[in-house]
Order: sequence, then structure tokens, then C-alpha cells
Amino acid sequence: MDSMKLSKDKLNSFVAILAEQKQLYMPQAEGETLKYSPVNAKVQPDLVFSNTAVPAKSVVFPQVETLFRYEVEKTDIKMPAGEEERVLLGVRPCDARAMSIVDNLFSWDVDDPYYLGKREKTIVVGLACQKPGVNCFCSSVGGGPASTEGLDVLLTDLGESFLVKPLTEKGEKLCQAAGEIFEEASSDDLNSAEKLHQEAAALISRSIETGGIPEKLPGLWESGIWKEVSNACLGCGICTFLCPTCHCFDIQDEIEGFEGRRCRMWDSCMFGEYTLHTSGHNPRPTRRERTRNRINHKYNYFVQKFDVIACVGCGRCISSCPVNIDIIEILQQVKEAQ
Ligand code: SF4
Ligand code: SF4
Repeated sequence: MDSMKLSKDKLNSFVAILAEQKQLYMPQAEGETLKYSPVNAKVQPDLVFSNTAVPAKSVVFPQVETLFRYEVEKTDIKMPAGEEERVLLGVRPCDARAMSIVDNLFSWDVDDPYYLGKREKTIVVGLACQKPGVNCFCSSVGGGPASTEGLDVLLTDLGESFLVKPLTEKGEKLCQAAGEIFEEASSDDLNSAEKLHQEAAALISRSIETGGIPEKLPGLWESGIWKEVSNACLGCGICTFLCPTCHCFDIQDEIEGFEGRRCRMWDSCMFGEYTLHTSGHNPRPTRRERTRNRINHKYNYFVQKFDVIACVGCGRCISSCPVNIDIIEILQQVKEAQ
């Protein structure tokens, strides 16, 4: 299916069509936090933002998710209802790429039906970046402001309209269902979009040459750099909670009266309790070991297992860290360490 054009004065209609057909999620402000939330057909879409604070992963891997419900002292369990079809609208290319990286993990040794069920029912409509954030470095780790990996449709803001490029069968079906509101895109529109993509790529000011890092990390296990780069860390875990590729979770039971539910919730390898054994032993007792693990997980273990770096260069961990710990500077130290 060829690219099409959506006039901005028809954006409301496009949103209404999507919301009538499927559960629609868009970036919405909750207090000061921009995150993906379900919206109805009446929402006034606002697709002017840099990136959401909370990544799009929260829709397919919720912060807290009920796995099943039960009654105390009974053996029956009640599974959640099946997943609804959903559309994620306005996803930045780094977040879409992150979901396709995380897919590796949840379909690795055991298929995770909760995550994969949501992924299968989700159509991802991306929005190419035009003003990368100050800490973005997506192009250093295999992405880019108009990367299409993990997307079903890519939108590019042309000013008065969006160029709409279907990328997968799911994306084509979605566009066909909304067909009448689109116009034909001209070769000028295609050229303008291409130019905007190149200009955005040129605006990315931070970078790191990642070649050799995965191979070098194992030899730095006892290096002094880990103490140095983790000295200021508060162990708050925000770098992992807001990371679009972090996927660690805990499973807990919550019981109220005779009603119980088993749920899973985001956890963080930056928390001391994360690896605390029942015996009291903790293999990652200090922030030195936890920081070493965070970097190794993304730039070493994941590469060994799945042949891809588990970091999409969104820069959230840098921008959100209360003590300015900067993953690009850590990687630079890794490169320079003897
Ligand atoms: S490690 Fe940092 S820069 Fe990389 S994907 Fe996670 S939050 Fe983004
Ligand atoms: S955000 Fe910064 S302070 Fe908080 S755990 Fe991560 S590195 Fe440490």
C-alpha cells in the first residue's frame, strides 16, 4: 500500500474512527507526566510532544498486571478476560523499536501469554521525530528518528498534514478501514518527509561508537570504573522504570478478605532487594554491582543472547536520573578502561 496524506483538520476524525474500532491509546498528561492512556473518540488529539515520560511498553507490559484471581482456600482460579484489539497512536520510533527488542525476551525460553497476547492485538502507529531530545542517541544503537522497526504505520508531520506510511499488513488494514479521510500523497510529499527525516537525524547531538563494547565488558568485571560511575547513585530505580527496554518484574499475591489476586509488577535491578536471597545473601550487595549489571544486561548479556543491544538511545535514563548519571559517559569509560 502506498503512502497517503492526512490533512491535520481531519486528525480528529481519524482519532474518532480508531477509537470506535479499537481501544485507542495516545500520549496524555497525567499531572505533569506524559504517558500512554486509553482515550475516547471525543479526545482532542495533541501530537506535539518530544517523547512521553513513560514509554509505550507500559501498554503491553503494564506496571501492575493481574495474572489471575482466586478465592482463599479454593482451588479455582479466574483468568483475566481476553485482550482487546488496541491501537497505540503517536509512538516515537525508539519506543517501537524497544518493544520489538523486548519481544525477544518474552518469547525466549517460555512464551509469555500476557505480554505476547497484548503485542499480537496491538497496532503501533508511530510518529517520526523532528526535534530529538538533548539526550537522544538512537542513531548510535541501530535506530533513528524515522526508524520503522516495531511500527505498523509511520506518520511524518509535514506541517499542514501527516504523511501516512503503512508498513505491515496490520497497518494496511488499519489505514484501509479509515480510507476515505486520506488523500493521495505526491512525490513532493514523499521528498519533504525524507528531507525532514534527514534533518532530524542531523539534530541528534549525542553519540557513542558502540562497536567493541559488548566484547570488552566481560573483561571489566572487577574494574574500578563500576565504583566510580555508581558512587552518586541513589538506587531510586527511575532509570529502569522509565527505560523502554527494561522488563524485570516481581510476582506477588494480594489478598483482601477471601479475595485474592496474583499480580506482576515492574521491579528494578537497581533495588537492593531485587537479588536479595531468603538466606540474607545478596549477590549484588551494593550499587557498584547493580550498575555493573544494568550496563552488562543491556550491552553484553542481551547481545550474547539475542544479538541486539537492549538500549534504544531514548535518553530517558540520563534525563531522569536525579544525580545526573549518564549512560553515554559510562559507556565512554568502558571504552577507555584498560
Ligand atoms: S538504557 Fe537509557 S537510553 Fe537506553 S533505552 Fe533505556 S532509558 Fe533509553
Ligand atoms: S536513576 Fe540514577 S540514581 Fe536512580 S537508580 Fe538510576 S542511576 Fe541510580
